[in-house]
Amino acid sequence: MIRFSSSRRASTPAPRPNLNPASLPVLALAGRAVITFRNQATGTHMTVRLKQWRDRQDKKKRLPIYSVEISMIGDRRSGYEYAGTLFSDTWRVKLGRGIEWESRTGRALAWLVASIRNPEPLRGRVGIFHEGRCCECGMPLTHPESIDTALGPVCLARVKARLLRSVTDAQIEAMFVPISSETDVPS
Ligand SMILES: [Zn+2]
Repeated sequence: MIRFSSSRRASTPAPRPNLNPASLPVLALAGRAVITFRNQATGTHMTVRLKQWRDRQDKKKRLPIYSVEISMIGDRRSGYEYAGTLFSDTWRVKLGRGIEWESRTGRALAWLVASIRNPEPLRGRVGIFHEGRCCECGMPLTHPESIDTALGPVCLARVKARLLRSVTDAQIEAMFVPISSETDVPS
């Protein structure tokens, strides 16, 4: 019997979530994020792609607009549906053609945006994974530290520089505390 969206091999131990929920707002909006969310209770998962728009004339200029694609089937490379466009300055969402808020994709998009705005409810409930590529530029991550942050060293510096306008250095450090070094035991 085939069950969609569930873990491929039941005998394989579940992989450890590799992203700290606190880093989700930064990573999701870094530019070229591909992030998988797994419901720890049910084992179901979905993968999202958030691609930032750039100015047509000045390609270096980033716009606060993201194309959001969502895949809810097992294969990370297929099954993506254009869910909608996210305007990160106002958090307004324009749904993709033919997508309704009540549909599976519409509900997933609403959940995603709410989670980017406030990722804390995900802690301990939803595992967050990157796909081994930098969430800013899409290049493969090879250094263990980069794999922890989901950003290559140059991109991490760039993201920090952008963020420092609104948050402190300490807040950034806290965002990227590897999940494995956190106390997992509830108090
Ligand atoms: Zn990068």
